Amino acid sequence: MTDLADIADVGRDARRGGYSRHGFDRVELELRSWFTQEARRRGLDVRPDRNGNIWAWWGAPGPDAVITGSHLDSVPGGGAFDGPLGVVSALQAFDLLRSRGFTPGKPLAIVVFVEEEGGRFGVACLGSRLMTGAITAEAACKLTDADGVTFGEAAHAAGFDPLRMGRDDRALASVGAFVELHVEQGRGLEVPVGLASSILAHGRWRYTFTGEGNHAGATLIEDRRDPMLPAAALVLAARREATSGARATVGRIVPNPGGTNVIASSVDVWLDARADDEPRTREVVSRITAAAREAAVAEGCEVRVTEESWGGTVRFDPDLMARVRDALGADTPALPTGAGHDAGILAAHVPTAMLFVRNPTGISHAPEEFAEADDCAAGVVALATTLEHLAR
Ligand SMILES: [Zn+2]
Repeated sequence: MTDLADIADVGRDARRGGYSRHGFDRVELELRSWFTQEARRRGLDVRPDRNGNIWAWWGAPGPDAVITGSHLDSVPGGGAFDGPLGVVSALQAFDLLRSRGFTPGKPLAIVVFVEEEGGRFGVACLGSRLMTGAITAEAACKLTDADGVTFGEAAHAAGFDPLRMGRDDRALASVGAFVELHVEQGRGLEVPVGLASSILAHGRWRYTFTGEGNHAGATLIEDRRDPMLPAAALVLAARREATSGARATVGRIVPNPGGTNVIASSVDVWLDARADDEPRTREVVSRITAAAREAAVAEGCEVRVTEESWGGTVRFDPDLMARVRDALGADTPALPTGAGHDAGILAAHVPTAMLFVRNPTGISHAPEEFAEADDCAAGVVALATTLEHLAR
């Protein structure tokens, strides 16, 4: 049987712990071929789309298809469940449906989206954003990784043509419903399986503070223009301004040149901010930006702010949720989530729902991410029952 254990050794990160699997890197390519093989072994028709996502069809592709799936990439040093659980559970759900003797009345497919975490190229949900036109091919292909490789170059090396990337109306038109199974990423779910009700508004911003690089010993304090100071002010402002359920995080700071005895000449800081709705998220970010600007001026530094991604509040399709509850039981809980997903990108275009599998510790995007085997098995049954109900 296909299991998460099959890929437990692929992409382990010895330095950070957990897994580092990023869009079109060696590890993700290995996982893609593993998925392709697993899908073909089941007689599914595997078809990569123009944007680097892989579709595996049970039945001929066509309109009103019922689609499930998730992603195989991770954050740097991420857990084993975020993404792969949805893919493995989809394969297992197909097996279960077959063992039940189910014959789909509608086409069914599993999709694997590329670069969902944005761990390599900085923009989350890149595959689904490209497919829906939420990002243009031109903008996506220019994104660079830490080594200066562009998404376009990486896609080309993986066999995709950057010139053919972009909004895929044909793929979108085929989707009658999309249901993504995912490990829950907080402690909100108290039963094995639940539904998602909404996703917080969410964006990423890059702040580049520029000062003057100099010697840590020979430069008097009053002579310094140290960009690390406004960078630090931004970190503190993020905590201060994220009130009433808003979340603001700085998880990545890159000083240039980055030496212990060197005053940095510039510092890049990435801010991730989320809140219930768009105006509230914008308000939190503008307060943080104002504090960062003020601190930059006080230190004689400059700051440039770039919005790297933005997504409004997602509310999952109430009709589809009702149909999933018909399949799983009226008492299936629905909870909001602070985490972004490809399902959130697709929700603006097609009826979309999410199934969550309980996470006992609420830890995610870290090596300690966990779900009990019994809960994962309950997730597979719930997904199979949902697909059976939707595709009959
Ligand atoms: Zn995920």
